[in-house]
Amino acid sequence: MIYFHISGIKKKKIVLLTHNNPDGDALGSSLALFLYLKTLNHDVDLISPTEFSHDFDWLPEITEIIVFSDTKKYLIEKKIMNSDYIFFVDFNNLSRIKHLEKICLSSKAKKILIDHHPLPLSFDFMLNDSNASSTSILVFRLISNMNNLDKIDAKIATCLYVGLITDTGYFRYPSVNAEAHFIAGKLMEKGIDIGFIHEHLQEKYHENRLKLLSIALEKLKIMKKYRTVYTNIEESDIRLCSYKKGYVENIVNYGLGIENMVLSVFFFEEKRQYPIRISLRSKGDFDVNLFSRKYFNGGGHKNAAGGLLKKNMSESIQYFVNIIRKHHKDIIVSI
Ligand code: 5GP
Ligand code: MN
Repeated sequence: MIYFHISGIKKKKIVLLTHNNPDGDALGSSLALFLYLKTLNHDVDLISPTEFSHDFDWLPEITEIIVFSDTKKYLIEKKIMNSDYIFFVDFNNLSRIKHLEKICLSSKAKKILIDHHPLPLSFDFMLNDSNASSTSILVFRLISNMNNLDKIDAKIATCLYVGLITDTGYFRYPSVNAEAHFIAGKLMEKGIDIGFIHEHLQEKYHENRLKLLSIALEKLKIMKKYRTVYTNIEESDIRLCSYKKGYVENIVNYGLGIENMVLSVFFFEEKRQYPIRISLRSKGDFDVNLFSRKYFNGGGHKNAAGGLLKKNMSESIQYFVNIIRKHHKDIIVSI
């Protein structure tokens, strides 16, 4: 079992990798694991394949994350090649670390998955459970199974709590269970400052972010018959608003707030380049993970998923509308 390998008896070189555009759970769970493995005196590096939203700049030790860039490429590749273990945190498909996939596959390191998405690829060690509402829960379980709960300090607890609340929509999604609340309670005992965390996680309504949201809401299209709603942000919209990473997070959720809608989709063209990034949210039985795997080269969870299309914006939207019209009986089973 993996616990024996990382018990700290022998110092190991460990690389933690999280996914492109890491969200609250990806950052929270990987930072917590990073800090925990350091308490066991391992030589640990945490790598993000891309930059992330400034909303998380306040997270403990976030500046320790090595963010991939052309200048860091060599250093990162060297660390991956020389590591004993690589943890893949909060994703289960190497397409989500695109530019690092090849180097990871050529590294002789033992590969460990720690993730809560369904249908994972195979790894040397698997700590996966799609019933867990966040990867942070799995990091807590790992620490607990190693009998090391006393090593969770306020910093580690803060990171885990951020993962817990961001991946459950602040304890609102159906994925929330007794374990999530139990762990939240345990983390509170470690002295986290809930007020401080929520204050920092609240959406920062910079006027440019609001302007972008208003553009997206203006463009919202409702396909009433199919209980589907969608919108988009294009490169020309971004130029109007001096865009910062993170500004479009959450736009997809607004559509799902409309009465009777079961599917909300958001198309995003970050730069004048392909592909188009897609966010999908659903209610009830409509499985956007399977939908995105089938049509959008992506995946995720049953009610929250993402994907990519190698088309321009209008082609992407047309492609999507055609799928909904043609296959809605198969896909929107909850109608
Ligand atoms: P978001 O829409 O917030 O980017 O992503 C929603 C969920 O889908 C998250 O759990 C995220 O990890 C997952 N996800 C987003 N994009 C992709 C993708 O391209 N491939 C896969 N497999 N999952 C994705
Ligand atoms: Mn997650």
